[in-house]
Amino acid sequence: MTTGGARRVLIAGGGIGGLAAALALQRKGFDPLVFERAEELRDGGAGLHVWTNGVLALDHLGLADKVLEIAPAQQTARFSTWRGETLGNWPIGDFVQRYGRPTIAVERSVLHGVLREALEETGAEPVRTGAHVTGFEQTSRSVSIRFADGTSASGDVLVGADGIHGSVRRGLLGPAAPRYNGYVAWRGRAPIEHPEIPPGTFNAMFGPGTRFTYYDVAPGLVHWMSVANAAAGGQDEPGVRDMLLRRHEGWAGPVADILAATPEDWIIRGNVQDRKPDKRWGEGLVTLLGDAAHPITFNIGQGACQALEDALVLAEHLERDRGNPAAALRRYEAERRARTAPMQRIAYWIGRMGAVEHPLAIRAREAFMRRNWNTRAFSAAEKEQVAYGTRWTRTPQHI
Ligand SMILES: Cc1cc2nc3c(=O)[nH]c(=O)nc-3n(C[C@H](O)[C@H](O)[C@H](O)COP(=O)(O)OP(=O)(O)OC[C@H]3O[C@@H](n4cnc5c(N)ncnc54)[C@H](O)[C@@H]3O)c2cc1C
Repeated sequence: MTTGGARRVLIAGGGIGGLAAALALQRKGFDPLVFERAEELRDGGAGLHVWTNGVLALDHLGLADKVLEIAPAQQTARFSTWRGETLGNWPIGDFVQRYGRPTIAVERSVLHGVLREALEETGAEPVRTGAHVTGFEQTSRSVSIRFADGTSASGDVLVGADGIHGSVRRGLLGPAAPRYNGYVAWRGRAPIEHPEIPPGTFNAMFGPGTRFTYYDVAPGLVHWMSVANAAAGGQDEPGVRDMLLRRHEGWAGPVADILAATPEDWIIRGNVQDRKPDKRWGEGLVTLLGDAAHPITFNIGQGACQALEDALVLAEHLERDRGNPAAALRRYEAERRARTAPMQRIAYWIGRMGAVEHPLAIRAREAFMRRNWNTRAFSAAEKEQVAYGTRWTRTPQHI
């Protein structure tokens, strides 16, 4: 618990990052208040991989067991060509022995719900919905935010956790649009049990300029994603499922069965966007967190995991230097930029590799992927990515 100094922390955005930050700050004795634009607090529509580093962060918040009750622990990540030829198997089930917790697959709504309930259990009123943040002003001692309805709120610190298009980010760094990566992701969920989808298996299949990934997020529920190169700004006509079935015609394994089992209105489309790492995330009493600070494409499945890590590190720095929150925020940003900038870059380049269409480039990709596993460089990269969260297992109790 903390006494004196900064207390009221305003958080713009009630996504996974904003809620995790509110919880972490609350556990350290701060008084966070989340402002969410949507009328209802929810996050839905698709699945997520939460790698062991993210699960360790949840563990430190006391929430991992709750999530693990619902979310299947992942055993294998399998990579193959669209014809089904294996390019590599990554036995991620071993992470439990190596790092203490599994990697899991979970519906976004489940993870978001666990965070939301944990906040609600505290009895405070930590989230205001229908609160569209449009800008902020600060002095050396306080910060205030403006809402679309003309009202405002003030506090000691402002955290912009309002996503890749966030308004706090715009106020700090200007209106630059995110970078479109040249491909679109269609995501969906299929209520299906299938002999070729053993529990706890992540599958990623690669075709020319196209990909298909799938994994179970609950018994009898499979999350999938179809990715294809496309110009920005397109829209789906009715019949998107048939379009996807045509695109993946002849693909190996359960791909056609998964698509056929998906209700059409469970399919969502999104342009894949990111940003190059920024040198600056904050100023004075204002900082950024999660996708607002460091959008990472899905290619390494780390965006939400990094938002969870941000939340814990932010709370640690603010607690350590409560009398000087601006200095605490700059230390938080430096630490987290060093962690997330390489991930933004690697995810971008893996996405480029996934998007190749020329047969020679495809052959080079496949050769690279076949060689990649079990190398020393790969083990080092795995450790770099996943072992970060073990810092919190050294702390004897949940915060
Ligand atoms: C296809 C795809 C697959 C992915 N797969 C994975 C994965 O497997 N594993 C993983 O870890 N990550 C994954 N990610 C990344 C992950 O989804 C994001 O990194 C994560 O959701 C970021 O959380 P956030 O809270 O920072 O931002 P967001 O989830 O964007 O939340 C921002 C919140 O702020 C609110 N908001 C926006 N503007 C305002 C405003 N002006 N005022 C008030 N509120 C506002 C929004 O309504 C929203 O609730 C994936 C992303 C995509 C697109």
